[in-house]
Amino acid sequence: MRFGDKETAMSLPHVERKESDDTHTVRVGDALFGSKEIVIISGPCAVESAEQVKQIAELALRTGTKVLRGGIFKPRTSPYSFQGLGRKAIEILRNAADEANLPIVSEVMDSSQVDEYESIIDMLQIGSRNMHNFSLLKRVGKSNRPVLLKRGMSATLEELLNAAEYIMNEGNDQVVLCERGIRTFNDFSRNTFDLTIIPKIKQVSKLPIIADPSHGTGDREMVIPVARAAIAAGADGVMIEVQYNPDKALSDSTQTLYPEQLVALVEDIRKIAPAVNREFK
Ligand code: PEP
Ligand code: MN
Repeated sequence: MRFGDKETAMSLPHVERKESDDTHTVRVGDALFGSKEIVIISGPCAVESAEQVKQIAELALRTGTKVLRGGIFKPRTSPYSFQGLGRKAIEILRNAADEANLPIVSEVMDSSQVDEYESIIDMLQIGSRNMHNFSLLKRVGKSNRPVLLKRGMSATLEELLNAAEYIMNEGNDQVVLCERGIRTFNDFSRNTFDLTIIPKIKQVSKLPIIADPSHGTGDREMVIPVARAAIAAGADGVMIEVQYNPDKALSDSTQTLYPEQLVALVEDIRKIAPAVNREFK
């Protein structure tokens, strides 16, 4: 398999693209990742209250969001920061999503959480900090739930694809990749959103890839332009942090959109999608 100017001896049979039309689709509720359709995932960084998630689920329906996000367990840099509501959050998220008839995506941080919650979470998210957690990758590989695999913040393309191969090698072929920004010497944003990985993934892999411009920039003023660029570059969807009163969010406040910003972004996606031979309904 060839990555950039480097040839690797190791082949990755599950993730490699062998023919140009060899695309792989992953269904989550009404969303079909990797098809012509652009998929929007939106919701708060973390589940904070029933009222917060109920309002956001209504916004999700209004904006054509197909999958509702919300952190139940939060992998925070500091052990003293808000860690998520855990079990209570699952109930809140599940109830709001059922009412809106939407599937949910949420992060699982270890194998025991998969054992406990895989029957409740429609799509299991592997966070950036866990992309190299091989026992967790193998565990979700044994699940029948689709997996959203986020790129490690210092992971190469090859490492990301190997992480996906770990999952698929256990039997679960429902993997969607997510670019969420990497660490560079850039001193003006939380991470450097690596737009270039999107067309590269499309060249070398058959897996769908979505963009997370929220963690990719850390700044709500940059989220919309970067989301637009990602769709134009061939991303299969975007994951956006949004909530009412984002300034009071318990985590990732500065990158969380105001609801009207999500509405504006969706209008932009509606215009960009047909220009790059995609659909957004
Ligand atoms: C998230 O999407 O909730 C998250 C914590 O993102 P990341 O793992 O990319 O930091
Ligand atoms: Mn977040």
